[in-house]
Amino acid sequence: MFETILVSACLLGLPTRYDGRSKTSPEVFNHLREKNLRPVPVCPEQLAGLPTPRHPCSFHSGDGVDLLAGSGRLYRSDGREMSASFLRGAELTLTIARLTETRAALLKDGSPSCGVHRICRLQQRVAGQGVNAALLRRSGLRVYSEADL
Ligand code: SF4
Repeated sequence: MFETILVSACLLGLPTRYDGRSKTSPEVFNHLREKNLRPVPVCPEQLAGLPTPRHPCSFHSGDGVDLLAGSGRLYRSDGREMSASFLRGAELTLTIARLTETRAALLKDGSPSCGVHRICRLQQRVAGQGVNAALLRRSGLRVYSEADL
C-alpha cells in the first residue's frame, strides 16, 4: 500500500520552471522510494495557465500568507501584477489534492508559488512562504521542501 504526495513537478524532472528547465532532485526520488510514496506532480503556475518559459515573478510585498489575506502582492519582471494568477494556481493545486485524497506536499523551496521556508521579494531571498505552500498548509496538508530531506 502506498500514500500519495503532491510534488513540485520541476523536482521530478519536468521542465515546468519559468526558464523552461527542471530542477531534478535525486534526494526527492530517494525519499519517495524510501517512504513508499507515490508522487502526484503539480505545477501551480502552469495550472494557472501561465506559459513556459515565462517571466520570472517575485513578491513586492508580503508573502503567500499575506497574499491569501489580501495584502501581499506578486509581480512579473516586466511590472505586471500576477497575484490573481498565483492564487488561481494554488486553488487548482488544492483541488488536485482533494481529488486524489492527498494530505502532504513536497515543494520546491524559494519559489513564489512553492516556497516553503523562503521566497524572493524585491530581488532578495527572504523567509516566507509561496502562495501555493501557504494555501496547502492552511488547508491542513503537511508541507515540506527538498531542503528538509
Ligand atoms: S511553480 Fe512550483 S512546480 Fe512549478 S516550476 Fe515553480 S517551483 Fe516548480
